[in-house]
Amino acid sequence: MRIVLLGAPGSGKGTQGEKLVAHYGVPKISTGDALRAAVKAGTELGKKAKATMDAGGLVANEIVIGIVEERLGEADAQKGCILDGFPRNTAQAQVLDGMLTRLGQPGIDKAVHLHVSDEEIVKRLLDRAIKEGREDDKEDVIRRRIDVYNAETRPLLAYYQAQNKLVTLEGVGTVDAIFDSIVKVLS
Ligand code: ADP
Repeated sequence: MRIVLLGAPGSGKGTQGEKLVAHYGVPKISTGDALRAAVKAGTELGKKAKATMDAGGLVANEIVIGIVEERLGEADAQKGCILDGFPRNTAQAQVLDGMLTRLGQPGIDKAVHLHVSDEEIVKRLLDRAIKEGREDDKEDVIRRRIDVYNAETRPLLAYYQAQNKLVTLEGVGTVDAIFDSIVKVLS
C-alpha cells in the first residue's frame, strides 16, 4: 500500500492520512510535519527552511527529497506508506519514482486527490490559524500557498493520471464520509 495524497493546503490530507495509517498499518510520511519539527528543534535544516515556509513557498527539492529518502529506508516503511505533502512538484514525483525503484520497493499504487474549492480552503486555513497558530496560516501567505499549489503541484494530477493512478474525490463532507470514500477507491 503506497499512496500519495494530493490536494491544496487545507484539503484534509493530514487528517485523512492519520486515519489511513490506523486503517492500513503503514506509516505516514509528511514533509510538512518533518519540516515543522526541524524548525522547532532549531536544526540546520530547519533554519534553512523556515523563511521559505513562513512565506508560503516550496522548500528546496534537495531538502525534502533527503527527508523522504531517509524515512522510506526505515524498517516500518518497507510494507508501504502514506505520503502527505510530497511530492509537491513534477521533479519531486520523478525522483520519488526512481527512489522507490532504487530501494527495491514497488511503485506508488494510487494518488488520491482531495478536491476542495479555493473559498473553502481559505475559510478552513483561517479557521486553523485561530486554533493552531501556524506561522503560514495568515491570509496573504494562504493566498500564496494556493498560488504555489496551482502552479507547482496541480501538474501532478496529470502526472499520475498519465500513469492511470489518479483518483479524485470530493474533500467536502464529514471526515468519516470522506475517509470511507477513500477506502472504497483503494479496495
Ligand atoms: P499544507 O499542505 O497545509 O500547505 P504542509 O504541512 O504540507 O502544509 O507544508 C507546509 C510548508 O512546508 C509548505 O508551504 C512548504 O513551504 C513546505 N513543504 C512541505 N512539503 C514540501 C515539499 N514536498 N516540497 C517543498 N516544500 C514543502
